[in-house]
Amino acid sequence: MIAENLKKVEEKIANACINCGRERSLIKLIAVSKTQPVERIEEVLDCGIIHLGENKAQELRDKSEIVTGNFSWHFIGHLQSNKIKYVIKSAEFIHSVDSIKLAEEINLKAEQISKKQKVLLEIKTSSEATKFGLETEKEILETAEFCLTQKNLELTGLMTMAPYSDDEQLIRKCFSSLREMKEMLSSRGITLSELSMGMTNDFEWAIEEGATMIRIGTAIFGERNYN
Ligand SMILES: *Cc1c(COP(=O)(O)O)cnc(C)c1O
Repeated sequence: MIAENLKKVEEKIANACINCGRERSLIKLIAVSKTQPVERIEEVLDCGIIHLGENKAQELRDKSEIVTGNFSWHFIGHLQSNKIKYVIKSAEFIHSVDSIKLAEEINLKAEQISKKQKVLLEIKTSSEATKFGLETEKEILETAEFCLTQKNLELTGLMTMAPYSDDEQLIRKCFSSLREMKEMLSSRGITLSELSMGMTNDFEWAIEEGATMIRIGTAIFGERNYN
């Protein structure tokens, strides 16, 4: 089932790329494996997936001790300072830096294990979306500038979540405003490569708006079972 689902997702990615004249190779497909058991993660890896996303710190720690191989873990959930220790070893990317304080703490933990930690800033692009994320240009610029001063952080991009909605205009607006924030930073001399945006319900729009990382769970694994 996973192989078939992936094939459908890849077809949609290909179509979205054609619609906007972008190359497939510019987009990292992150299979969001939260709540999925190890067997299903191994199945998705067997299908050629090389990026896995988790949103709970201890769950990432536990799975990363069992599932190893030639792929990258992405931490995509809200991160509390006291849980950085669970993700610092395994996460190649932390997508959810939403304060200077958190950036500072991640830098400290990364320093302790001599790692340069790749991070993205989480941006709140709509009032309906999640509670977390930086909002104003000032906040975003200050946090980005702070990250650049930290020796053990590598600021690679911006991340957002669109609200759960079927309003295409509203969702596209979130994605385009993330792209505009990246352009704003670029005009201030801060060049970032990644835009992490797009989930099962909206990844085609995200690709058309410039996503370089899409985070897909349900369309790959099927509905999640939280029990
Ligand atoms: C769960 C999750 C996803 C994937 O959601 P789907 O709708 O299942 O594709 C993407 N990003 C984040 C931050 C998530 O928590």
